[in-house]
Amino acid sequence: MKPGDEYHCPKCGKNTFLKKEAVMDGWTRKGDVLKCAACGHLAGSLAPEVKGEKADPLKSAAADRFKNLLGADDFEKRPKLNSSESEEHFCKDCLHLIPHPFVNRCVKFGKEVNPMDDCPSFTKKNT
Ligand SMILES: [Zn+2]
Repeated sequence: MKPGDEYHCPKCGKNTFLKKEAVMDGWTRKGDVLKCAACGHLAGSLAPEVKGEKADPLKSAAADRFKNLLGADDFEKRPKLNSSESEEHFCKDCLHLIPHPFVNRCVKFGKEVNPMDDCPSFTKKNT
């Protein structure tokens, strides 16, 4: 039940709606009640509104669940695929590469190459 809901009042017999009314104890507000809008017959009471403290833990729990759903932790722990292997075959480390400020050329194939290319004929240069 909430304010504005349709209400068939057993006291006055009218089809009316519920209105909210504050219950006061002196100057202290004790809560809210729902009353018949026509005659004021007490229809029920409203639980006091809960704000702040109780809502936040639920919110963060939902956020954690969402994070787990995405597998964020797993993704961070996962090692990069073949990172150590492919690094060893970059053209920039190859004996055949002739470094140039604008164009890197491979003497083995006689063509332009990208320093980060992965060459099947890679020969590690002596450093
Ligand atoms: Zn009534």
